[in-house]
Amino acid sequence: MFNALLLEQSGKDTLARVQRLNENQLTQGDVLVRVDYSSLNYKDALAITGKGKIVRQWPMVPGIDFAGTVLTSDHPDHSIGDEVILTGWGVGEQHWGGMAEKACVKGEWLVPLPGTMSAKRAMAIGTAGLTAMLSLMALEHAGIKPGQGPILVTGATGGVGSVAVRLLAKAGFEVHAETGRRQHSDWLKELGASEVIERAEFDKEPAALESQRWAGAIDAVGGRTLARILSQTKMHGAVAACGLAGGVALNTTVMPFILRGVQLLGIDSVYISKEQRINAWQRLQISLPQDFEEQSTVYTLEQSITAAHDLLNGKLKGRALIQP
Ligand code: NDP
Repeated sequence: MFNALLLEQSGKDTLARVQRLNENQLTQGDVLVRVDYSSLNYKDALAITGKGKIVRQWPMVPGIDFAGTVLTSDHPDHSIGDEVILTGWGVGEQHWGGMAEKACVKGEWLVPLPGTMSAKRAMAIGTAGLTAMLSLMALEHAGIKPGQGPILVTGATGGVGSVAVRLLAKAGFEVHAETGRRQHSDWLKELGASEVIERAEFDKEPAALESQRWAGAIDAVGGRTLARILSQTKMHGAVAACGLAGGVALNTTVMPFILRGVQLLGIDSVYISKEQRINAWQRLQISLPQDFEEQSTVYTLEQSITAAHDLLNGKLKGRALIQP
């Protein structure tokens, strides 16, 4: 038996409770992992609170990522005692996830913990950090270099945003941070932002083209914010679109693309290849401060329910870990 946060559907409501489950209920994979840490992402918060259609199959153990130790394996790449990371692949959505003491997943979904990285550090980075790194790598691949102008990060106090600010600053970029929570400006500057900008400045209908401000952007917000960023992106700049915290609609024009050669880069962390994952994790290992994991907040399975509500209500900042 093991403890897990279980989500059940009751009419239109989602019921979240910590329950004792039997290992026999974990039938869908070939590697059984003892979960040391999971992390609380925007998607997990939507699933746990029932505020978004994330869960595809009921009942569901949430947790779109975890790091832990292999307990049993029928997969040739993984042996008992190996330390592994899982992010994405629909885990916590259609396949039981990481907010449990144990998880059983397909071996091909797992990547080894890079070098000496601990499970706690891996999940302090988590899906959010992986997405931030993929966004940075996409900007670099699009030809964006330090010295070309500021890079805007939106939703900057959130999981993706706060890691993106750190990674960009470490890579030598001038970082401007957009936030709805100006009270965290000093913290954002400690992470590496040189300017902090009010959310309200972006949440407006943009003109087709506005003054050129950004060499690039990592956008976790979407909606009108993304449309505005596109209209303000410099000639041959690039925008990595990775999130939708502010909305899914994108009402823009072709003008930034055909008159300024702006590139809009879609970022998916869920179904990328193992090779891309390993590359991103290796770079993450060396790009964040030594004490990075100590700056996140750790919750129990029980506490994860309140933390999920807090995340959606803008009461959390940075990364939240779950220790089952
Ligand atoms: P968080 O909740 O930690 O961060 C989101 C941040 O967005 C908030 O902290 C807030 O930042 C800002 N925000 C929230 N609501 C609004 C709003 N209505 N309008 C404008 N800004 C808002 O979530 P994560 O960092 O985990 O995820 C961020 C986004 O990235 C989510 O949409 C998530 O689904 C997406 N994502 C995508 C992935 C991919 O593979 N493409 C992987 C992981 C996440 P502030 O208070 O500073 O303004």
